[in-house]
Amino acid sequence: MKIPTPGETVRAFAEVFAQNGFSLYLVGGAVRDCCLGRRNGDFDFTTDALPSDVQRIFRRVIPTGIKHGTVTVLFKGGQFEVTTFRSEAGYSDSRHPDRVEFVSSLEEDLKRRDFTINALAVRLPGNEVLDYHHGLDDLKTGLIRCIGVPEERFSEDALRMLRACRFSAVLDFSIEQETLRAISRLSHNISLVSTERIADELSKTLMADYPCKGLEYMRTTGLLKLILPELQDCFGVQQLGFHHEDVYGHCLSTLQLAADARWPLELRMACLLHDIAKPLCRSASAQDGHYTFYNHDAKGAQITRSILRRLKFSNAFTDKVCALVANHMFNYSPDWTDGAIRRFISRCGKENVQDVLLLRLADMRAITPDADPTPVAELKQRIDGMPQPVLTVNALAIRGEDLTGLGLKPGPLYSEIKNFLLQQVLDRPELNNREALLEITRKYLENRNE
Ligand code: ATP
Ligand code: MG
Repeated sequence: MKIPTPGETVRAFAEVFAQNGFSLYLVGGAVRDCCLGRRNGDFDFTTDALPSDVQRIFRRVIPTGIKHGTVTVLFKGGQFEVTTFRSEAGYSDSRHPDRVEFVSSLEEDLKRRDFTINALAVRLPGNEVLDYHHGLDDLKTGLIRCIGVPEERFSEDALRMLRACRFSAVLDFSIEQETLRAISRLSHNISLVSTERIADELSKTLMADYPCKGLEYMRTTGLLKLILPELQDCFGVQQLGFHHEDVYGHCLSTLQLAADARWPLELRMACLLHDIAKPLCRSASAQDGHYTFYNHDAKGAQITRSILRRLKFSNAFTDKVCALVANHMFNYSPDWTDGAIRRFISRCGKENVQDVLLLRLADMRAITPDADPTPVAELKQRIDGMPQPVLTVNALAIRGEDLTGLGLKPGPLYSEIKNFLLQQVLDRPELNNREALLEITRKYLENRNE
């Protein structure tokens, strides 16, 4: 196993501590990942120096989390987060320690950490690895194991249960049996954790190389039904026909393809949630050996919106994922006219259409690994080759005054007409001029009043 050897700046940084009679250790994810040969630029340091000592021996120190003993030192162009050795006590709310106390030894500090693989330290300078909790053994065998008694550790901070699942997804590790049993017993406590922290762990799990591993741990321990009940409800929902997996399995397989391709979070989320409405939309009985799932794309976008709102994702992120889910069920064939292509782009949104194609490819390949990608590739070619910029209602060559001139007031009919005009212009772009649009509007109103 590779022993971490920090660079020149880190060594010089450690020398300053040594010269002032203090010790400095690299701890946490950087040590774990370095031992595994993985990159991790997020250095966490721990020291016996008090925050006031660090402020004294360095010129530029930002008190980033001084209550918890953390300061950030600006040193030779680097930013180093340093936390004084501390212990934590009394977690009466399963979230935060009631008290944080500075302690004098590294050994004492490492006891408050969550997993053995996160409690390795490297003494600086010198690079000696300190491993009080057999973290190196667990790194070798690929195990996530609590330090001390798992139930106690998860009762202190319920978020650690999701962190265990996340690390399994990132590192392709298994969760050790006792630790896993404790999560199953205490999963209900996840409701005590803030939405933001839950959403953050879920996002990190999706961004891992083995997201399904983490999600499966969440499902089997009971965490999933508390944080993403809609996905839990997909478990065991059979599809029959050409689908070899239930809806849940298919969602995970689609997500895995997104992870293999290193797609960004919004696409991974869309892959995970694209069939989320299938349990609700499944026809009562299987016909011709398969079920139908009418309208599961539109309904899926609604459910996706409620999930992402609940988890407090940003509006922009939510809109994007919903657009992908809502439009994933297209069936391209070469007889689509240019108007149909423009309507498709307009429906997806120009900024989303390429990702809709990617989602569709992953969806198809999750069903049949050697699915023929030609139709999607052809559609992409036609989209890329589309000469005119595709329009939205706002780009119609007609203004509000023009419509009010015809006696229309802003309201449902007004939007209906604008949408109708847009469909006409997408079919025939040359119609996008004021006279033609006014003429179409007049005719539309005449027909409507008949
Ligand atoms: P990464 O930075 O790659 O997400 P990390 O292990 O460095 O992983 P951080 O959140 O940066 O995670 O935390 C640094 C260290 O602090 C961890 O390795 C662990 O030792 C400790 N730690 C962080 N969060 C907790 C927690 N909720 N409970 C116990 N220890 C924790
Ligand atoms: Mg870290």
